[in-house]
Amino acid sequence: MKKFLTTFAVLAALASAQKPNGAVTGYTDTPVIPGQKWKVHDADRPKPPVVTPGAKLGDAPSDAVILFDGKDLSKWTFAGKRGKAPQPWKVENGYFELVPGAGDAVTKDKFGDMQLHIEYMQLPGSTKLGQNRGNSGVLLMNRYEIQVLDSYGDPTYADGQAGAIYGQWPPMVNPIRKPGEWNTYDIIWEAPKFEGDILLKPPFVTVIFNGVMVQHRKEITGPMAHRINAPFKAHGAEEPLGLQDHNEFVRFRNIWARKLQGYDKK
Ligand code: MG
Repeated sequence: MKKFLTTFAVLAALASAQKPNGAVTGYTDTPVIPGQKWKVHDADRPKPPVVTPGAKLGDAPSDAVILFDGKDLSKWTFAGKRGKAPQPWKVENGYFELVPGAGDAVTKDKFGDMQLHIEYMQLPGSTKLGQNRGNSGVLLMNRYEIQVLDSYGDPTYADGQAGAIYGQWPPMVNPIRKPGEWNTYDIIWEAPKFEGDILLKPPFVTVIFNGVMVQHRKEITGPMAHRINAPFKAHGAEEPLGLQDHNEFVRFRNIWARKLQGYDKK
């Protein structure tokens, strides 16, 4: 009897299997997955879009927006600072270098949910310490900061170190490389949602720093601020990416971003 039931189950499964070319491409009689509208192995579920990965880890995949390819700053604007006229940062040797006082670098493209890759280097020889040592920052939506700092042996406060959500969460560990060596951030960003002035959903961020996870889907509690907890202010669903001018020489290269569309997009 047991053998008969097993055989029956196999025959029933084969009968419901979708096999247009001999390969099983899904089923129509399976149960719905909890919390989803799709059935287990659903024949109608959209297949994931094909993305060609970069030649090596860290290279941009085919669906990325290239924000800096080592050659020009055509994707960026410069904000100016303290009444000074804005000026571009310096491009040379495949990187661009912050010009202190030039103002934040801000992308022309806007992003909501995103995956961001960025590489940076602090210059060797700085005699400064604390928040004055190689300070810059990745400003997600131009207001939520993942700190960039030369925190290689630097005694600055925990929630201001490189990889920190500035003023909120320190990095879980400190994997920074020495000045003169390139660091990488791979950042997964979930944008906040507002309805009018009301925050419906806060932002969340995951940060992988030199291949080491230092933030794991941490909830952001407000925009970047110094010595205070700043409240959220409603903004667009997509906003530019910024790089902070904190009056320090920092170099950046290989910057790309992917707009995250979520699951099951046709
Ligand atoms: Mg900073």
